[in-house]
Amino acid sequence: MHEMGIALEIIKIATDSIPANLKNPRVERINLKVGKLAAVVPGSLKFCFEVATKDTPLEGALLHIEEIPVSARCKSCGYSWTAIKPVFICEKCDSGSVDLLSGLELDIVSIEVEEGA
Ligand SMILES: [Zn+2]
Repeated sequence: MHEMGIALEIIKIATDSIPANLKNPRVERINLKVGKLAAVVPGSLKFCFEVATKDTPLEGALLHIEEIPVSARCKSCGYSWTAIKPVFICEKCDSGSVDLLSGLELDIVSIEVEEGA
């Protein structure tokens, strides 16, 4: 279950991004973009995140996951399309020369931090 490793990585990045001058900082929300090909199960990642943030400034933070569809473009005919699974062959001309445009990303888009009371 590699979601735990990813959750820990997100927590590390989020923790490092909390401004040092905040008193009792609380991370409210983390916005993530996850490509359909990144092989991450959102529910499982959320679960790992919840477990791993216990007793940290990130406890209770909302992990918002936006799933990015796979999109590809054929280098031979220029046709582009989106798919829900890996694509290596053009749907239109059967060329094997395909560029993957999106679907592999695993990015933290933004982190919302609030100062505690
Ligand atoms: Zn093609």
